[in-house]
Amino acid sequence: MSIKDNLEKIRQNVAEACKESGRNPEDVLVLAVTKTRTADEINEAIRCGITDIGENRVQELLAKYDDVDPSARWHIIGHLQTNKVKYIADKVCMIHSVDSLKLAEEIDRRCRSIGKVMDVLIEINSGEENKDGIDPSGVYELIEEASSLKNISIKGLMTMAPLGADQETLTKVFSALYNLSVDIKAKKYDNVSMDTLSMGMSGDYVDAVRCGATIIRPGRTLFNI
Ligand SMILES: *Cc1c(COP(=O)(O)O)cnc(C)c1O
Repeated sequence: MSIKDNLEKIRQNVAEACKESGRNPEDVLVLAVTKTRTADEINEAIRCGITDIGENRVQELLAKYDDVDPSARWHIIGHLQTNKVKYIADKVCMIHSVDSLKLAEEIDRRCRSIGKVMDVLIEINSGEENKDGIDPSGVYELIEEASSLKNISIKGLMTMAPLGADQETLTKVFSALYNLSVDIKAKKYDNVSMDTLSMGMSGDYVDAVRCGATIIRPGRTLFNI
């Protein structure tokens, strides 16, 4: 199938999952995960209607950046080292993988120097075998401390479900992220909105949408990998 057909299929599945759960499909952004894809493939996806693209490596993002349609909105979705923030601060619209105060502070510092406020998500660790993300019990302290930083805006949470998780585990993990966002929102921290939930990849985005995802991150199923 072509990227166009794949995207259409994803949008259909999202629409169905939204209908089942009483949600509006317009509230779900399809973020195309473009790691290992060429600039040509990314541009093809953009011609098919993709507006937002996600890379998990800074080096790879920089290598493709100039060859991709400048209308694209870039997101960093993978673990981000503090010393790499300076390379992407001016290039991305959202960082999904904030998991330490040190990283939040560095994003804030780099964005202040270029007069920008960066949208960020806090990455929550939802399974033992994945080392990225912060433990849910540590999230309140991190958000409390990071919420005073003026050049980041905390928009919500991100997670990855454990690899090969069954339906029941997926529902548990994604519902837990949703419930955590509701809890954090109720605390009314300054500068923290919790309106964005980035969850769901090729194999599990339907479950994620049912549980409240507002950004899904398909890669393989969009690009036929
Ligand atoms: C690779 C990746 C995805 C996409 O995974 P697919 O299985 O290709 O859909 C989503 N999110 C993150 C953080 C990734 O690294």
